Amino acid sequence: MGLSQKADIAYLALRQAIMEQALTPGTKLPEDPLAEQFEISRTLVRAALARLASEGLIEVGNKRTATVAQPSLDEARAVFEVRRCLEAEVVRLACERWQSAWRAPLEAHVRDEQAAAKAGQANVSIRLAGEFHIQLARLSGNPLLTRYLSEVTTRCSLILAVYGRPHSSDCAVTEHRALIDAMARGDAAKAMKLMAEHLEGIEARALIPRTVRSDQDLGSILAQYAQAVGTPSR
Ligand SMILES: [Zn+2]
Repeated sequence: MGLSQKADIAYLALRQAIMEQALTPGTKLPEDPLAEQFEISRTLVRAALARLASEGLIEVGNKRTATVAQPSLDEARAVFEVRRCLEAEVVRLACERWQSAWRAPLEAHVRDEQAAAKAGQANVSIRLAGEFHIQLARLSGNPLLTRYLSEVTTRCSLILAVYGRPHSSDCAVTEHRALIDAMARGDAAKAMKLMAEHLEGIEARALIPRTVRSDQDLGSILAQYAQAVGTPSR
């Protein structure tokens, strides 16, 4: 396995572990154990951490040790404001450029979300729900829009994982299905209205404080996630 591939696994494993709250906000992510875990240099660890920091998932403090981000409620509200603007444009463009071949993969994704929710995997379903929105953004055909929405959606998923009610999934799958229907009909006005209501619902579920747990073993959590995103890290 190449070095850059190992670095990608480190990035993806950390990202997924944070999004699913296996690593809770405030968890320290020291470079040495990460380098050892993923068998990469500290330089590559720093690069992976920088990528996560640019997505708002980790914070690098003045002592240079990265920690899993703890978004404040004010930040959460600001992120949702931006998300509302971006998503309105995403559905408008997706309607305009809609191709019938897009429907099946979107529906398959929604089935995965539903399966995770049914299996009681709340944090997996939060991550998959966020990825549904990123998939929609790709359909807009605008790479910048996709990049910004991806960042904002990732931050929203973290916020929901931190502040959301336990067992509430990010998005109602029925609402995702209704969105697909409206876009497939090319009904941009309806799709934009559905999206606005959908995001209102997510925000209402997200901004409810609750306590987070603090006992966790970095090594065993990351080994699990490294295995999930690629080849095992050891
Ligand atoms: Zn959604």
